[in-house]
Amino acid sequence: MQKSLDIYNETNRKLKALAYCGFLSGWDINTEMPPKADHEEELSALSEMSYTLQTSDEYSAAVDDLYAHRDELSGVLKHEIEAAVLSKQKLKKVPMDEYVEYGALLNRFYNVYVEAKNKSDFALALPYYEKVVEFKRKYVLWQQTDELSGYDVLLDEFEKGTSRKQYDEFFALLKEKLVPLIKKINGKKLPFDDSFNKKYYSEEGQKRFQEYLRGVVGFTPDHTVVKESEHPFTSGYGKTDVRITNHFYADNFLSSVYSAIHEMGHGMYEMQVSDEVDKTMSGGGASMAMHESQSRFLENIIGRSKSFWETHFEKLKEIFPENLDGVTANDLYLLSNRAECSLVRTEADELTYSLHIMVRYEIEKGLLNGQIEAKDIPSEWNRLYKEYLGIDVPSDKEGCLQDVHWACGDFGYFPTYALGSAYASQIYHAMQKDLDVDAEIRTGSFSGIEKWLAEKIHRFGASKDPKDILFYATGEEFNPNYYIDYLVGKYSKLYGLDA
Ligand code: ZN
Repeated sequence: MQKSLDIYNETNRKLKALAYCGFLSGWDINTEMPPKADHEEELSALSEMSYTLQTSDEYSAAVDDLYAHRDELSGVLKHEIEAAVLSKQKLKKVPMDEYVEYGALLNRFYNVYVEAKNKSDFALALPYYEKVVEFKRKYVLWQQTDELSGYDVLLDEFEKGTSRKQYDEFFALLKEKLVPLIKKINGKKLPFDDSFNKKYYSEEGQKRFQEYLRGVVGFTPDHTVVKESEHPFTSGYGKTDVRITNHFYADNFLSSVYSAIHEMGHGMYEMQVSDEVDKTMSGGGASMAMHESQSRFLENIIGRSKSFWETHFEKLKEIFPENLDGVTANDLYLLSNRAECSLVRTEADELTYSLHIMVRYEIEKGLLNGQIEAKDIPSEWNRLYKEYLGIDVPSDKEGCLQDVHWACGDFGYFPTYALGSAYASQIYHAMQKDLDVDAEIRTGSFSGIEKWLAEKIHRFGASKDPKDILFYATGEEFNPNYYIDYLVGKYSKLYGLDA
């Protein structure tokens, strides 16, 4: 077994180096790279090397041997080997030329997508969407098992143990409980004068507030970088190198405030993985939904709370004294929680957010089971926005081209956003048993809250399944009712309705 362990470790040393190149090139593409730069050959070579290493007979035999002796391994390594067996089996089902070709397709797609979005021209990107959908359909056929077929293969990859059945039930429950409330609220105005929100907020001022927030969250400059990109995102390579981006709109300053807190929430998860786990192949987050639960927890449950604005409003006012003259912390609280059916997911309020996800979920389901084709994406999108949110979509830019995910080949990812939001509410419920969360927010630092998250969730990294971490943190299995109770309670109070 020692020989197998040596081979396993040596292969991982190389795989980690390749993953580091992937991390750097991904960061570069999204932040610095000229739009017409061509690195297709180099990136193809990298993905070929990664494929060859993971599918080599030597590595495969070593992983199988370790799997056979898994009960003699430490908990972290045992979990890792179980995952490694599954991932090499999956990878071997994908022919190398298709694997490399698909990677190259995605690299080309990104810039085409950006151009199509800027021109609001779906037709420009359609050939790429078609090829990605074609690959995904083939992929699920390669990977299907007795338990998993079709779209379930992809859902399970993003969040182990999930399926259409589970999401159908989850979304049906959200619809049943939230849509009546959304209908009651729609068109109602919160009692405050929002004219301050229509003023000009300089990028320089927004960046100063972002720097202040870094201090509040504990996003220390020694190990973090903040840059700009069209779509804010987090990228990390181990706990010592965590990077996020943000965007700044002069006519919507709250967007950069909440994107910063959201991405720092992802970043803190990466940074608080234990040293022991960080050195293994189990660093980073446990799953997409668990990651999103952390970003949305800080962004919404903490960042959109009354205590947050009562604590930090003065700093914002110090930066924008003229714009915020006569404005109160409560005005900021109301502005950041205003609910309305809108076009753009990333700017959506907490209450209507999951409806945006359901639109994407239905389209992915339709594409994977062949009910719709890539060319139908815009019309399906617009139809579903009308049905779920009651609004007309004026352009593809504000419609089906608003998210980059499908251009990155990420099908099955969106549903984890809604699931992660639901995890966040369950985690909040458990945290309140141990901490006076409002008092923690009022200290001006998130450190007490993050210490709890580190102990209950972050330190494990990906060394356990998300469902086990959720159980450890909250003492129970996933229960969507915490999410519903949180939203119904919060929004009924905000809008003066009976809960
Ligand atoms: Zn996120």
